[in-house]
Amino acid sequence: MNSQEIFSKACELMPGGVNSPVRAYRAVGMTPPFIERAEESHIFDVDGNKYVDYVGSWGPMILGHAREEVVRAVITAAVRGTSFGAPTNGEVELAQMIRNAVPSMEMMRMVNSGTEAVMSAIRAARGYTGRDYIVKFEGCYHGHSDGLLVKAGSGLLTENVPDSAGVPKAFTDTTLIARYNDLESVQRLFDQYGEKIAALIVEPVAANMGVVPPEEGFLQGLRDITKQYGTVLIFDEVITGFRLALGGAQDYYGVTPDMTTFGKIVGGGMPMAVYGGRREIMDCISPTGPVYQAGTLSGNPVAVAAGTAMLKLLMGDTAVYERLEEKSARIENAFRTAVEKYHIKAQVNRVGSLMSIFFTDRPVKSFDDVQTSDLAQFAKYFRVMKAHSMYIAPSQYEAFFVNDALSEADLQMTERAIDAALSKLFDA
Ligand code: PMP
Repeated sequence: MNSQEIFSKACELMPGGVNSPVRAYRAVGMTPPFIERAEESHIFDVDGNKYVDYVGSWGPMILGHAREEVVRAVITAAVRGTSFGAPTNGEVELAQMIRNAVPSMEMMRMVNSGTEAVMSAIRAARGYTGRDYIVKFEGCYHGHSDGLLVKAGSGLLTENVPDSAGVPKAFTDTTLIARYNDLESVQRLFDQYGEKIAALIVEPVAANMGVVPPEEGFLQGLRDITKQYGTVLIFDEVITGFRLALGGAQDYYGVTPDMTTFGKIVGGGMPMAVYGGRREIMDCISPTGPVYQAGTLSGNPVAVAAGTAMLKLLMGDTAVYERLEEKSARIENAFRTAVEKYHIKAQVNRVGSLMSIFFTDRPVKSFDDVQTSDLAQFAKYFRVMKAHSMYIAPSQYEAFFVNDALSEADLQMTERAIDAALSKLFDA
């Protein structure tokens, strides 16, 4: 069966034919390719197409697909049993590796998704502080738990749903919204609610409204304000963790949060995520403390094996982040060159191996700026990129993820594709 046939069947069985909304390709008005397999920098669909992959499973595949070391670790673990629901030495070893890479993770818990990690971190912060309010930023996405589906990014932006149906108003009453890169908007909330705010959560590099880097001093400003009010600062590093640096965005920018959430890379492509931080906060988690949080599959041995193999690869190759930077800079340059050559109104934002092109003449520093991007231009750009065998996120609001498996040939092909895609916009 081809993608179209499978999709028709899928739509009968699953909402929109998919298990997560952005996969449905609605924003670009296309049928999604159904994937058969992936290898290194390439992904293959059931229709016989081979693409250069710039989605990388939305982040985890920073070293490319099906790395032998990770696959072997998964097989070895699976043969010993796929789940025990009991503690293993592997979990302890992985936790130690994470703490070595990210010293602010004094203690941690493993869970199964980024959503779960964030939901649990916020509960911990509330339990620790005895406060109810939280602050999040417009356009930042932190998973689909009820209290965070307010002004969220990712698929919610694509679908143009400001809030989700099915979330009682009462569940979001304690969620306060600030503007990304706008410390004054944060200060105003703290002036009014300061002593009642348990946690402020931020994507240190916003990557769910397209990529929007923090302006100089923004993250430090958040650190200073939260410290002053005794509020727990949570960095949601589900995307940035182990991507910008081994020590994540907190290392890259030199600002240390009280708590951090990791997902994606930390599980090596298996369902795994982690939350953690200061010991005194994590001591509040059951069974040590009164904040309940649990999981049948948490610390799953196969996921732990994949995550451990992935982190070992990243830790054992000190040049990996330099190579990612070089490859990403080259792609950024291809975008910038074509933007100039064809006189396109566009902005290119990049931090390390995360980047976005926005079709607007306004520098993109906030959610408001993001919303000036021309989505019809994006859809056109997307179609030409796809026709040139580029597998990129089918949405303006998702990042372009660069991986270390990209070859010279892939990069040259990408440069040609970008030139072709932007030249078509000029024709418009
Ligand atoms: N936080 C951030 C910053 C994310 O990008 C995502 C997912 N893209 C999540 C949380 C939720 O993670 P998951 O999809 O694994 O639930």
